[in-house]
Amino acid sequence: MSRLYGPQNVFQQVRSPQDYEQLHLRALDNARRRLLKPDLRHYVSPVRQAVYINHGRIVVLCQCQAAVSVSREWNIGRCLECGAIHNDPIWPDNFDEVESALIVRPYPFRNWRPGETVEQLLLDNVTFGVIDVR
Ligand SMILES: [Zn+2]
Repeated sequence: MSRLYGPQNVFQQVRSPQDYEQLHLRALDNARRRLLKPDLRHYVSPVRQAVYINHGRIVVLCQCQAAVSVSREWNIGRCLECGAIHNDPIWPDNFDEVESALIVRPYPFRNWRPGETVEQLLLDNVTFGVIDVR
């Protein structure tokens, strides 16, 4: 299981892919009623989004601009705002190294964007004193 946060960490009631789907459907149902969006439905995103790390959470940027929680284990994100289902997002080949570089930081500082190298993350860890090299 990933040490960075996925939906099973972000949402208290989510422990399985089925729980995440149920949360998604309930959120859309609530939005239809409360936000007067009668045509809001879940749909499969036509775009494969790249994952990034924001405050220790694994997310993709949805086309509605929401940050969508993604599970490493289930390989899916579900947008509770617009209904998009993000199947098979794009993972960096070196995800485990990125995770190891970030996990030593306090969670608000666990941030990574595609293109940012592990070497840069490790250098930042030293520069900001996360890793004591004295
Ligand atoms: Zn969305």
